[in-house]
Amino acid sequence: MLEVDNISTGYGNGDVVKDLSFIAIKKEIYVLLGANGAGKTTTFRVITGILPPSKGRVVVDGIDLWVEPEKAKRKIGYLPEGERVYPDLSVYKNLLFFAKIYDVKEERINELLKEFGLKKYRNVKAGHLSRGLRKRLALARALLHDPDILVLDEPFSNLDIPTVLSLRDKIFEMLKEGKIILFSTHILSELQNFEGVKCRVGIMKEGRLVLEERLENLLNRIRNIDVVLKVDKKQQAKELLEKFGYSVNLESTGVTVRVSNYNDEIPAIMKILLTQEINIYEVKTKEAPIEKIFIETTKSY
Ligand code: ATP
Repeated sequence: MLEVDNISTGYGNGDVVKDLSFIAIKKEIYVLLGANGAGKTTTFRVITGILPPSKGRVVVDGIDLWVEPEKAKRKIGYLPEGERVYPDLSVYKNLLFFAKIYDVKEERINELLKEFGLKKYRNVKAGHLSRGLRKRLALARALLHDPDILVLDEPFSNLDIPTVLSLRDKIFEMLKEGKIILFSTHILSELQNFEGVKCRVGIMKEGRLVLEERLENLLNRIRNIDVVLKVDKKQQAKELLEKFGYSVNLESTGVTVRVSNYNDEIPAIMKILLTQEINIYEVKTKEAPIEKIFIETTKSY
């Protein structure tokens, strides 16, 4: 378990992460979601032992990270933002450097080179690799010591589609193995790919965690949207739409219809109503799609 307990920190000019607390548990993904500058990277720097908190604690399986950093850090693998590798060292030597620090056998390097499709680049300087390959190398390095907790800063940016897919598979595999995965993103749509696994999302704004919610709840808000239709013959509209299998409620000025796919269903609903000469004066969603939910959630804090 990873406990982030009321941490604050900054870069000498006031705190940019403020009173942040959350818990990440085994077999679960914890996502930090937030706009640029919200404090995601800074939070990750604190929980990976790079940047000290000005207050609060980070506890990794009962070990206080900032009291026993060496012990706690062995349990954590970190993929920093960007593709931070040593550009003048070969792919192999990049991994060897960390293998020595963590006392990891060289066999493990070969295993990872194979797993991440880096075998043929073994002797190539990391600085000469493409961005996507550098990221794969950085990821292999993060996994070198087989950490229980994996912290990935914007893992899906700058990757080609096959690499994104294999990274996702890797994440699913590690979850099954019982690891804790944390990642940050500002790409909301990426989250839809994690449906079906245990995933919690913490939304950050200006250094604070303003909302924490299960991914399925967040996605359900987009999936089952209530759409309010202002119509003239509301009872007739209700009966008609119910015949088409919709769940409909009467409102003072019209009806509310629950749709699972807004873009496809709204034009169809409008056609159904218009063919029966029911006039529609307004169509609006009761709850907004995910981007709007995000904006609205963070606006009020
Ligand atoms: P992004 O999605 O753009 O990476 P983020 O949510 O990860 O954003 P941080 O990088 O943690 O946000 O930045 C939080 C705040 O801290 C920002 O205002 C940023 O300008 C500031 N900041 C980040 N790194 C430093 C640094 N090394 N020195 C001074 N200020 C910094």
